[in-house]
Amino acid sequence: MSVFKELDFDGHEQIVFCSDDSVGLRAIIAIHNTHRGPSLGGCRMWGYASEGAALQDVLRLSRGMTYKAAMAGIELGGGKSVIIGDPTRLKTPALMQAMGRAVDRLSGRYIIAEDVGTNVSDMGEIKKSTRHVVGLGQADGGAGDPSPTTARGCYVGLRAAVEHTFKTADLRGARVAIQGLGNVGWHLCQYLKEAGAELVVSDIRASKAERAVAEFDAKAVTTDEIYEADVDVFAPCALGAILNDETIPRLKAKVIAGAANNQLAKPQHADALTDRDILYAPDYIINAAGLIRVDSERRGFDPHWVNQKVDEISNTLKEVFAVAESNSVSTAVAAEQLATARLGRTGTQQ
Ligand code: NAD
Repeated sequence: MSVFKELDFDGHEQIVFCSDDSVGLRAIIAIHNTHRGPSLGGCRMWGYASEGAALQDVLRLSRGMTYKAAMAGIELGGGKSVIIGDPTRLKTPALMQAMGRAVDRLSGRYIIAEDVGTNVSDMGEIKKSTRHVVGLGQADGGAGDPSPTTARGCYVGLRAAVEHTFKTADLRGARVAIQGLGNVGWHLCQYLKEAGAELVVSDIRASKAERAVAEFDAKAVTTDEIYEADVDVFAPCALGAILNDETIPRLKAKVIAGAANNQLAKPQHADALTDRDILYAPDYIINAAGLIRVDSERRGFDPHWVNQKVDEISNTLKEVFAVAESNSVSTAVAAEQLATARLGRTGTQQ
């Protein structure tokens, strides 16, 4: 196995494999780039099919964090961590404290937060072993769950993308499909419903979709049907790689704007979307609001600054759409060009 030649390796500064048999910890911390500041990124806990799949996921996610921080104009680098294992069966306070010790050994080069499979109370456990943790509850001196802020950023970005495509940001009567009704997807539904949109929803947990039908008058579809939903906007808010060879030809939406990280299965899928005249809001720009919030938390929480920064997501996306049009490239390539310029790097990673 050659890690260094992997496309996803992309010049990572440091990759740390951590284990603690006494609590069943098997984890990987990936630090992609610290040129702009210490790396910060969530900790995902997931029952990966293989260690290779976990490594690929953490590499892709940490690289995305570098670009996310750069495009949000935040003085942070990119990093991420994964704990291998099903959180519903294997997560314990002792395991999270062991993860905290692994983070602490990096002396602040990596700052941990929550992601899929971890939450605010897990960060409280991690805090018992390290001070390099954000996304803490108020009782632990933090600003609480960043997910509602991420949802607001997605809403702001979704409106910018809708305005670009349909020449109006008015969402009354707009049809939006939301894939995944978790911490972000649910709050995004609330914003969209309030703005007068009609919702189509799907979640692997049927009870969540049923709740959305009751609360938002949404139409629930299966996890497969969501790709073909007759909607204007598709908002991926579950896991990554859902824009691929199989799904892109089926999409009816003209705008993709959602919170999930790494939505494109491969870089070339950005071109496949452009070919179908579908506007893609690059994931690491539209979902940056949670990062903006935890960055503020670590420096002394300032909700006014957070709100301003989150509103800037709209202008950043508009800049990306304009560069894509004038350079005749996909929005993903345009975003990468802007991000690499901010990072002072040359060339693209396509
Ligand atoms: P979450 O775990 O709370 O929610 C994910 C939801 O998706 C769950 O309800 C799950 O049942 C559902 N789901 C999983 N697979 C699905 C599928 N195939 N079809 C439909 N539903 C499916 O996670 P979250 O915090 O809401 O984050 C959602 C996405 O946004 C993730 O990709 C995460 O990395 C990304 N993100 C989150 C934040 C944040 O602040 N929480 C910030 C940036 C990016």
